[in-house]
Amino acid sequence: MELIPRATLDQIRHERVEEIVAARKQGAKVVGYFCIYAPVELVQAAGAIPVRLMRGGQAAEEAGEKYLRADACSFCNSCMGNFERDQMYRQVDAVLSVNTCDMMRRLPESIEQHFGIPVFQLYMPRTSEPLPHRVAEFRRQLDGLAGELATLTGSAIGTEQLESEIAAFNRLRGMLRQASDTRRMSAPLLSGGTMLDLAATAWLLGPVKAVSLIEEVLRIVAARPRQGTRRPRLMLGGSMLTEDDRWLLDMVEEKADIVTDILCTGTRWFEGTVPERGLSPEAGGGSPMDRLARFYFGRPCMHRRPNSAMYEYAQRFVREFRVEGLVYKTLLYCDPWSFEVRRLQEALGLPVLHLDTDYSTENREQVRTRVEAFLETL
Ligand code: SF4
Repeated sequence: MELIPRATLDQIRHERVEEIVAARKQGAKVVGYFCIYAPVELVQAAGAIPVRLMRGGQAAEEAGEKYLRADACSFCNSCMGNFERDQMYRQVDAVLSVNTCDMMRRLPESIEQHFGIPVFQLYMPRTSEPLPHRVAEFRRQLDGLAGELATLTGSAIGTEQLESEIAAFNRLRGMLRQASDTRRMSAPLLSGGTMLDLAATAWLLGPVKAVSLIEEVLRIVAARPRQGTRRPRLMLGGSMLTEDDRWLLDMVEEKADIVTDILCTGTRWFEGTVPERGLSPEAGGGSPMDRLARFYFGRPCMHRRPNSAMYEYAQRFVREFRVEGLVYKTLLYCDPWSFEVRRLQEALGLPVLHLDTDYSTENREQVRTRVEAFLETL
């Protein structure tokens, strides 16, 4: 049985969207973002509402295809479609985007061109070794973003406000980690599907309300009796998984447990903490902007070069969560993730099920056959 009924989550989210609509009528600004490199603390410290744009879906993908080139990934197509169709996307006043892959460089330009929504484009140095000049360049980018956010909201970012948002988002990251860590146990009570729901809801609710929701889920987990049925323990990886990919998690979890992931819409958002004030610069302290720059620069992703940190991340999670197999879901034309599958399989030494699809629903029975065949091998 689900820890939080789907209908309850839908209601929470519906109410939050209504709240955002009302806040905008009072002059609030909404900043939509896509990936783990978006410094949400800065957005909120400027007085704007950060909202993660992580919907997919076949209808949105089809609606969005007319805007982008033929080999755009399904996520980017659906994003364009959702700006037409989704009530939350229609509340977005500005988009915060990071140059993670070629499509992510093009998508914001199309959003600006077709929907007239201003885009703040952050340049993340592709080379991942944190040499001072690279981190300094990213820090310069954050300064520019702070200025653009202040212009959007009419409110400059104060140091105290930024410190307070860093603490609030650290708490949210910590609570999501705590929820995810309940899956270290054998026969975990919290499913991968619920974890995806929880994270997606948290990114909509903001840190304060989201923490209360997660505390409630943790109370339910603590009170529920353990069932003890041993099933294969799986990790999820690949291109961004959206809220509309929930069906795949449900399908896998009919016969296995998704105990962790290496997704940007999963653990990679909430792993780690921005150092809080009081530390010396040598111990990772400094101004809040310096700490944010170092934290975000150090996030692992496949698109960085070298991307060994991404492999070390995956290996650590395989060890710590006793993973027995990897379900690796890539989107058609998503090169940054598709090209790595063989190397990742070798590095992890695990059986891998690689699913490379768009958002169409017609192939779900084929996917089911492949999932079942894979699980039988474990
Ligand atoms: S990384 Fe892959 S899924 Fe994500 S935007 Fe780029 S091409 Fe699309």
